[in-house]
Amino acid sequence: MSEEWKNARRIVVKIGSALLINAKTGRLRHDWLAALVDDIADLRAQGREVVLVSSGAVARGRRILELDSSATLNLSQAQASAAVGQIGLAHAYQDLFDGRDLVTAQILLTLGDTEERRRYLNARNTIEELLSLGAVPVVNENDTVATNEIRYGDNDRLAARVASMISADCLVILSDIDGLYTAPPGESDDADHIAVVEEITTDIEAMAGDAPDHFSSGGMITKVAAAKISVGSGTHMIITSGKITHPLKALSDGAKHTLFRAHSDPVTAWKSWIAGSLEPKGKITIDAGAVLALASGNSLLPAGVIGVDGEFDRGDAIIIMSPDGDELGRGLSTYAKNDAERIMGRQSSEINDILGFEGRACIVHRDDMVLSAR
Ligand code: GLU
Repeated sequence: MSEEWKNARRIVVKIGSALLINAKTGRLRHDWLAALVDDIADLRAQGREVVLVSSGAVARGRRILELDSSATLNLSQAQASAAVGQIGLAHAYQDLFDGRDLVTAQILLTLGDTEERRRYLNARNTIEELLSLGAVPVVNENDTVATNEIRYGDNDRLAARVASMISADCLVILSDIDGLYTAPPGESDDADHIAVVEEITTDIEAMAGDAPDHFSSGGMITKVAAAKISVGSGTHMIITSGKITHPLKALSDGAKHTLFRAHSDPVTAWKSWIAGSLEPKGKITIDAGAVLALASGNSLLPAGVIGVDGEFDRGDAIIIMSPDGDELGRGLSTYAKNDAERIMGRQSSEINDILGFEGRACIVHRDDMVLSAR
């Protein structure tokens, strides 16, 4: 078993439509899914957190709606199919997890939920909360409202965004193939399986081949795109075959797979992104007590804030300043500028009364903060 899989505490598992839905009958492959849910229950019993990214809504819904099974669906047909199929999927997951004394939850995301920082924090908080409550979130794209311009279209990249958003240790993509090959195995006799990808070079990208011309399925090309997002965020990514029953147990037993190795951990990758890649939109000046609190690893509370400058929204990067005007570090603000100004100097317990909504207790959470070396 790979160390990366063995040591992963927070895991995202992506399952594609072809594994979930029987191509002939258009029905859910119930026994296969039940076995997968058993595997997930085992992981949970080991204290590991699991998020599922599940496709299958369009593939299931189009059959229920009796839309011609070979033709490519137009956008509104796909949206309608997703609306129908998603209900059945959610129901099946609820049933199966319930049978194993686990709570499941449905999260439907659109592109903006992972690309816009304000909404990103919302989605992340919800998934974090569900995980801390012991639930198994099941995520899909909200295909019913997604349009061609604002959709992922494939759940490989969606899964990588989710993994990156929640700082997962490992993303497992269950596929109809057990990993990346030097050439498409069906078309070439000397296609070699690649066990580990240390770096996603142009050669590796070339091995992924061309995009299939199917409406929603990604092929190897979106899996390599997902790997780039994933390893860039410090999350290892594994492609392995989902064609067998109990595919996650098989992975633990050493099943063949391709590992795209991340060379930093999610926390380091997240913090270097905050420190280096984001343009700060404002400044928050804090008092001497808060300087000490931050130095000992605490979040920044409104009580310690003595000044707010600039124009920033929730989720934007801000600079944290000492009372003397020195830069102490950077972080993501959990409040927009106007709200931060209104709660500065006040106790966290007063936030609700001042703002009229229940916000987070801190202005910058310690996980979203990087202090400069001093
Ligand atoms: N979100 C789509 C669905 O549920 C699947 C996208 C994909 O195939 O990757 O049908």
